[in-house]
Amino acid sequence: MKNIAILGSTGSIGTQTLEIVDEFPHEFSVKLLAGHSNDELLLAQCVKYQPEYVILTDKAAYERFCQNNVQLKSKPLWGMEQLLNILSEVPLDLVVGAMSGAVGIAPTLRALELGIDVALANKETLVAGGDLVRKAQAKTQAKILPVDSEHSAIFQCMAQEGKCVSRILLTASGGPFRNSSLTELQQVTPAKALKHPNWTMGRKITIDSATLMNKGLEVIEANWLFQMPYEQINVLVHPQSVIHSMVEYGDGSVLAHLGRADMRIPIQYALTYPNRLVNHFPKLDFTSLNGLTFHEVDDDLFPALGLAYEAGRTGKSMPTVLNAANEMAVQLFLNEKISFLTIPALVEKVMTRHQPQILTDLAQLIEIDTWARNEALRLSDSLVR
Ligand code: NDP
Ligand code: MG
Repeated sequence: MKNIAILGSTGSIGTQTLEIVDEFPHEFSVKLLAGHSNDELLLAQCVKYQPEYVILTDKAAYERFCQNNVQLKSKPLWGMEQLLNILSEVPLDLVVGAMSGAVGIAPTLRALELGIDVALANKETLVAGGDLVRKAQAKTQAKILPVDSEHSAIFQCMAQEGKCVSRILLTASGGPFRNSSLTELQQVTPAKALKHPNWTMGRKITIDSATLMNKGLEVIEANWLFQMPYEQINVLVHPQSVIHSMVEYGDGSVLAHLGRADMRIPIQYALTYPNRLVNHFPKLDFTSLNGLTFHEVDDDLFPALGLAYEAGRTGKSMPTVLNAANEMAVQLFLNEKISFLTIPALVEKVMTRHQPQILTDLAQLIEIDTWARNEALRLSDSLVR
């Protein structure tokens, strides 16, 4: 029985993680749940899973939660500080990092520093704080088990411990606008961008998938997870999302991971690793497939991917800035303050104004992250809407 904590239990990945717990009730004991603003769902989750602690990071949601009249076994706590403290109080085998955005960095670092393995969905943590994550891991040898479907695929295809790998082929669905023209991209509204053809996900990652920034973040994530140079990480658009990524070996063999577009598959693998368990989810039906196609990304239409490569190659604090500026730009787009095409333009503008620094600690990272967000907000006024 693994004792687990789910950080971001109210989100798309968090709720699907709980579906894995439902599938294997004797394998997992939920000790801690953390969410931000969705107190009603957290309450329902506490009734069902009876964790020892439930943490809400939004103050108003915490207050609403505390006013419930339900007899709970779970002790409610408010805020990130409490979350960081409590991680060392509960005996945990695995922390599931399913918060959205750079807010996930501090608890992920804390878990790794405590020697607890992390099933990581929250790619922003690795993008913004890869150096710090590596340092924390080096001290305790805690593992990061990838939840992102592409990275889970690569992890599983790295059969010989990554020996003789010539390149990683990171597949991308291409998002809802993979066949759009520049004129069409100029007209994209939040409502249109929030309709992903293959996956149902949280709002932020759905917009990232539409700009292809998500693939850019994943390139940086792959660089950190698999220690693979950027020249050897190639992105391939594969609209059917059947192949979740591939690893090419020096002898010309290519190992691919195939499956349905169902996040529960990589979540389960990260939770049960190193074992595989039989589940009752639908399996891939090859006879229903209408061919698998592949093509390159159009860099002119989707400049976000190139920006991520650039930030990754520059290294130091540049990926932190890329990530923070992007988080702010996505928020501005969702609030209809900037256009879809302004998202990468704004990120690029903030990046050009940043002097990369070697990352030494979390306080410095937060300072740079805050600078980049403020800069994106300030510069957004001067960009075409
Ligand atoms: P959602 O938006 O669905 O969920 C986000 C979670 O984070 C919610 O539990 C939310 O709480 C919590 N949260 C939001 N803001 C804060 C905050 N300020 N402090 C603490 N917690 C906060 O996102 P997803 O589940 O889609 O994505 C989560 C992560 O997984 C992201 O990093 C994403 O890139 C990654 N990922 C997601 C995939 C997917 O299929 N969804 C696939 C691969 C990776 P609340 O709802 O209570 O406000
Ligand atoms: Mg992915």
